[in-house]
Amino acid sequence: MSFPRKKLVAGNFKMNMTSSEVAPYLEVFRQETEKLNDVDIVLIPPFTAIAKASEILGGAQKIRLGAQNMSPEAKGAYTGEISAPMLRDLFVRYVLVGHSERRRLFGETDELVRRKLVTALASELRPILCVGETLEERQAGQEKAILEGQLRGALEGLTPDQISEVIVAYEPVWAIGTGLTATPEQAQEAHLFIRDYLGKLAGTSLANKARILYGGSVTPANAKELMSQPDIDGALVGGASLDPRGFAEIVAAATPEE
Ligand code: PEP
Repeated sequence: MSFPRKKLVAGNFKMNMTSSEVAPYLEVFRQETEKLNDVDIVLIPPFTAIAKASEILGGAQKIRLGAQNMSPEAKGAYTGEISAPMLRDLFVRYVLVGHSERRRLFGETDELVRRKLVTALASELRPILCVGETLEERQAGQEKAILEGQLRGALEGLTPDQISEVIVAYEPVWAIGTGLTATPEQAQEAHLFIRDYLGKLAGTSLANKARILYGGSVTPANAKELMSQPDIDGALVGGASLDPRGFAEIVAAATPEE
C-alpha cells in the first residue's frame, strides 16, 4: 500500500549568503518556482539574512522560511544565541535540529538535540531532525544502530502527537558536502528503517504520514531518482541550494508528474 505524502524540499544555505545577496537570489528563485505546485518549499538562510528574506516573501504561502539552529532556551543571558520567539517573530516556520555539522563541529549531544526539539515543538516551529551515520559507522555495518540511537535520543518520551510534527532528514555524514551520494537503494533502506522506528514510537498510522527527507550531495542530476523512492519524501539540500536555478530544478523534480 502506498501513502501519498506531499514532498518537501528544503535548502540549507549554511554560512553562505549575506542579507544583501538574498534579494537577487529570491528574485530568480521565485520566478523559477512560480509554476511549481504540490510541493512544500523551505529556504533556510543564515540568521542574518532571515529578516530580509521574510520582508521580501511577506506572507507568501509558497516559500516558507527555516532557521539552521536555535537555542533550547526562550530568553535570557545566553550571549550569541537566537531563540524560538525571535524566529517566530520573523515568520520562520521550520528549524533544523541536530544537523551533523552542529553535532560534529559544535559538540551537540543527543540530549541537547532533544531539548531543542522540545522547545521548537512548544513554540510552533516545525523541527527538521537530522540523523545519519559516518563513513566508519557504515563500513562497520552500524548505520541502523546509529540511526536508532539518534532517533531514540531525540524522540523517546515525546507523545505521538509531538512526534507527528517532526520531519526527519536522513543525512549520511559521508555524503554531506562530499559529492558522494547514497544510492537510491541505500537511502530507501535507511528511510524505511526510520519509518519503522517511528512506527514503534508513535504507531504505524502516524509513521506512514511522517515525511522523511534525504540529504547528502543532492543535485539536479540525482534528485528525481532519489525522490522517486517510496519512502523518500523530499530533500534537504546544502551546496546545490545556493544556485537559485539549480535549486528550482530540484524542487521541480519533487513535483508530482502530470
Ligand atoms: C546539508 O547541509 O544538509 C547537506 C545535505 O549538504 P550538501 O547538499 O551540500 O551535501
